[in-house]
Amino acid sequence: MHELGITRSIVEIAEGHAREQGATRVLSLTVRIGALSGVIPDAVEFAFEVCAAGTLLEGARLIIDAVPGRGRCRACGAESAIDRFTYACPTCDALALDITQGEELSILELEVD
Ligand SMILES: [Zn+2]
Repeated sequence: MHELGITRSIVEIAEGHAREQGATRVLSLTVRIGALSGVIPDAVEFAFEVCAAGTLLEGARLIIDAVPGRGRCRACGAESAIDRFTYACPTCDALALDITQGEELSILELEVD
């Protein structure tokens, strides 16, 4: 489960930001996870408590902002909703999809005390 390592990194980055702001603890953390990022939100949620233990994020609420995947076809210009197993344009079947949304993996917001 590579989400454990990813979640640990997210917690480390968030804790760094919190310390910069002079916070004593983090109340909530909002993380944006794109459907095409290869990261499973449920797994991050599962790993979060373990990774947050003993840090400023212990007991913080984790809010996941899930972003659906979207792609634009270079052949026909159609924009469509895609998932990580979509390789061809759903409109014309061309293998010419550019991902326009869904690869995000970032910390959106940090509520500190
Ligand atoms: Zn197309």
